[in-house]
Amino acid sequence: MASAKTPKPDELIAIRYEPPETPWMETPTVFRPGTWSYSGTAKSLTALGLPNPRAWQPPDEDWKLPANWKGIILEGLRERLEKYRSFRLFMDLCVRCGACADKCHFYIGSGDPKNMPVLRAELLRSVYRRYFTASGKRFGKLAGARDLTIDVLKEWFYYFYQCTECRRCSVFCPYGIDQAEITMMGRELLNLVGCNINWVIEPAANCFRTGNHLGIQPGGVKDMLEFMADDIADRTGVRVEIPLNKKGVDILFVTPSGDYFADPGTYTCMGYMMLFHEIGLNYTFSTYASEGGNFGLFTSHEMIKRLNAKIYAEAKRLGVKWILGGECGHMWRVLHQYMDTMNGPADFLEEPVSPITGTRFENARSTKMVHIAEFTADLIRNGKLKLDPSRNDAYRVTFHDSCNPARAMGLFEEPRYIISHACNHFHEMAEDTIREKTLCCGGGAGLGNDENMEMRMRGGMPRAMAVKQVKEKHGVNRLACMCAIDRATLTSLMDYWVPGVTVTGVHELLANALVMKGEKERATDLRGEPLQGKAADETL
Ligand code: SF4
Ligand code: SF4
Repeated sequence: MASAKTPKPDELIAIRYEPPETPWMETPTVFRPGTWSYSGTAKSLTALGLPNPRAWQPPDEDWKLPANWKGIILEGLRERLEKYRSFRLFMDLCVRCGACADKCHFYIGSGDPKNMPVLRAELLRSVYRRYFTASGKRFGKLAGARDLTIDVLKEWFYYFYQCTECRRCSVFCPYGIDQAEITMMGRELLNLVGCNINWVIEPAANCFRTGNHLGIQPGGVKDMLEFMADDIADRTGVRVEIPLNKKGVDILFVTPSGDYFADPGTYTCMGYMMLFHEIGLNYTFSTYASEGGNFGLFTSHEMIKRLNAKIYAEAKRLGVKWILGGECGHMWRVLHQYMDTMNGPADFLEEPVSPITGTRFENARSTKMVHIAEFTADLIRNGKLKLDPSRNDAYRVTFHDSCNPARAMGLFEEPRYIISHACNHFHEMAEDTIREKTLCCGGGAGLGNDENMEMRMRGGMPRAMAVKQVKEKHGVNRLACMCAIDRATLTSLMDYWVPGVTVTGVHELLANALVMKGEKERATDLRGEPLQGKAADETL
């Protein structure tokens, strides 16, 4: 199926914010090319044991649903209302104050009122009211209730797959209503009748088949790590080791597969390898746990649990003390918000203590998993790394707080601390676009595919405008982030809205600056770009 042509930036920026002429319940959903994602394939659904595997696409008239699809959804809704108290509260609590209305990047970028978080939630609440509240049963539309019809189901699909579950809107809600949780429930219900998107379901299926989203076999993982070790040797003169599936080491290192298979994530992975070599860390990569990302988060709670369990099963098999995690986004949301309830506590592991500094990571007492930014910031703070920030002088850097480490973990200072020690030129974006108010890349939660490109560029537009501002003011040319999805999606976003700004992981910057024992005089950075001052024609 051919992808839609994405409008040019000057066409796309002409956004109409007027509401449609018809009331929202009567405004039909149009599957416009470029604004939706392909359906999950029968093969992937079958691999995961999900219901109703078949060939279909969202614009089809007939979605080939099970005959009793309505009963399945309503029973699924009843079960979830009983099981998740927060979900029931979110269905009842909203006072429609509108504080969240203009906080969603998809609403800002599209002007579509159904992308306002308050109205996105109403898509589900209206059905909840109709079947589960006395007023809705009795007064129907007057009470904001409506029947569950095939058109409503299609509307759910369109708008719950136009939410990146970024949770920005919840920061502004006086009641703490978490739209991401509502979207997750909407997606779970859609899954019950076989309606998912392939960009979510295929990576999840691959993860069970080969250990990672991209479906790379163990030999491929080994080859990629060896290529990177060769590149490191070429740039630095230092040959780093590649511990893989090693039993009895101190630490299992888990990172998103995008870090070892896709640029610019590969440079971040080289950064981890150089750091671990330099400090003599006793660790291992794993081909079984070769994925930090967890696309269960975009499918169902059951799938989150199944995928997260892989990491801990591997930690147990290898007999490590604790787990160190790379620059991933939603892996950390799963770890910090769901792990304990779903798979924890991981009592067979030890409370993490840095073998280099002796720092005890008490915040990871239960999960036994430490974020690489915490680990590295602690090394710097204890004077364990020799850094030459001038090696990053070709770059004016800004930092994008990836939604999940920022809003789910509160990990604000550690990446900034690392960047400020690794670079001489760091500039923050506007205050209301960073830290807990950070703006989404527009391509998370499985939406970072090519067929959905127009919606991605719309959703990412607010973030891109904040980057553009610091580019114009400070000459920023590097956008750092700590998430593999961000590294992929922000690259397309920058090419579209802010050409000239490239994307990097924090540990790529760190490794550029890292002075390693026995290294040769470096002439280039990890990408092979000449260091400033090392090439005659280099200017900033
Ligand atoms: S901010 Fe909260 S209470 Fe107000 S409309 Fe949005 S979800 Fe409802
Ligand atoms: S995409 Fe983010 S801001 Fe928009 S509704 Fe979803 S969770 Fe809220």
